[in-house]
Amino acid sequence: MHLDILTREERSVLMSRIRGTNTKPELIVRRLLHRSGYRFRLHRKDLPGTPDIVLPRYRVAIFVHGCFFHAHRGCKLAYVPKTRTDFWRSKFSENQKRDARVKRLLRQDGWTPIVVWECETERPNKLSPHLNRILNAHCVLSELTDNC
Ligand SMILES: [Zn+2]
Repeated sequence: MHLDILTREERSVLMSRIRGTNTKPELIVRRLLHRSGYRFRLHRKDLPGTPDIVLPRYRVAIFVHGCFFHAHRGCKLAYVPKTRTDFWRSKFSENQKRDARVKRLLRQDGWTPIVVWECETERPNKLSPHLNRILNAHCVLSELTDNC
């Protein structure tokens, strides 16, 4: 497959799959937040782990994790491939360690990291109120109540 023969949209989908940004689950979460009226920023490189979605007023950083690459425990989308098993196991373990480190750094900086799993985006009717609850609760607890 040659990149030149792809349409712009196809190329963007392909590149995002490689980079792991603007994935379908991420777009679903953005749409839900947008519908609920939240303002957010995307892929803030100045924050630990470059969170997928950042809500500055709430000081909340959202990561939309693919269940496979981030080894979502007990999830039907997470499994260890039968070939190169050792490679995958160490890859998953590295990813989990990095995720934990990133969350710790964000908390130290006064941010609240939230992980939304890919499988959760399959049920937007459940995910949307869940996110609203978390954000509202966080807003009440923060000093930025006036702004939320
Ligand atoms: Zn999952």
